[in-house]
Amino acid sequence: MAGVELAAAVAVSLERSGFSGCTEVVSMRPVNGGSINDAYVATMASGERLFVKYHQAEPGLGADQCAMMFDAEWNGLELLRKAGCFRVPQPLAVGRLASGAFLAMEHIDIRPLRDQRRFGELLAEMHLAVGAERFGLESDNWIGSTPQPNKWHASWVDLLRVRLEYQLDRAQLTGEAGQMGQALLQRLPSFFEGVEIRPSLIHGDLYAGNCAADEHGNPVVYDPAVYWGHHESELGIMHMFGGFSPELFEAYHQRIPRAPGFDKRLAIYQLYHALNHYNLFGSGYRTMCASLLKQALS
Ligand code: ADP
Repeated sequence: MAGVELAAAVAVSLERSGFSGCTEVVSMRPVNGGSINDAYVATMASGERLFVKYHQAEPGLGADQCAMMFDAEWNGLELLRKAGCFRVPQPLAVGRLASGAFLAMEHIDIRPLRDQRRFGELLAEMHLAVGAERFGLESDNWIGSTPQPNKWHASWVDLLRVRLEYQLDRAQLTGEAGQMGQALLQRLPSFFEGVEIRPSLIHGDLYAGNCAADEHGNPVVYDPAVYWGHHESELGIMHMFGGFSPELFEAYHQRIPRAPGFDKRLAIYQLYHALNHYNLFGSGYRTMCASLLKQALS
């Protein structure tokens, strides 16, 4: 994406959104982004910096959908901000170009997360807060660039089934893995017997790359795929790729103890992300999907 064109579009969108700061962009510097979007730091004429994510339209994800994806991210960031536990960047403007769409937000001077115990405490605090009576959200959103079914459901297991079904449909696993996928869907309620589930606010994509600390050491989270769901579902991806210390989980489980059957459900919650990675990034994740299916069903 040409920086000049993006800079002009960001300025217009900030004005339209009623941004109270300076809207004149003097430079748009590409920075190392995540795995899904291009990332830029915009420097404004006032010296303020903004963080801008841009997604180029692609087959199956046109410019309008890219803008909807960023609207959903905005909504998620606002929900996390409202929860008041973590520092979360303030979303400022979403804009659509012919080639794609962007989301401009507050720039945070992020550093590595050091106080993981505190992070675990805050996560438990967020999960324990009461806020919704059903599971899901008022609209679907995206996990990475994969659509995430997110309609309101009275039953958590029903919502989880819809989501697993969606990822399994996209994955089209063949052979034993495919059969295990279908068996898991059938047996899904049995993993939740006797477990009390209340809707908790879930970040939804909380791997170590989506959290950090700010300049004062306060934990920061970003890039969410938010919904109201079973608190344990947050922990799936946290246990998959490393980067979180035992102290974090110890602090979390001091406040929210593991319920019976936790390990099997954790495998299912990991499977959801493994399937999503398989669908996004390809066959390297197939073995992970098969082994998590085996773990859950054994
Ligand atoms: P993607 O959607 O592509 O995964 P992310 O939202 O994870 O992109 O952002 C990519 C990287 O940019 C993050 O890993 C983080 O290092 C940095 N980042 C994200 N949000 C901000 C922000 N508001 N301010 C400064 N840096 C940020």
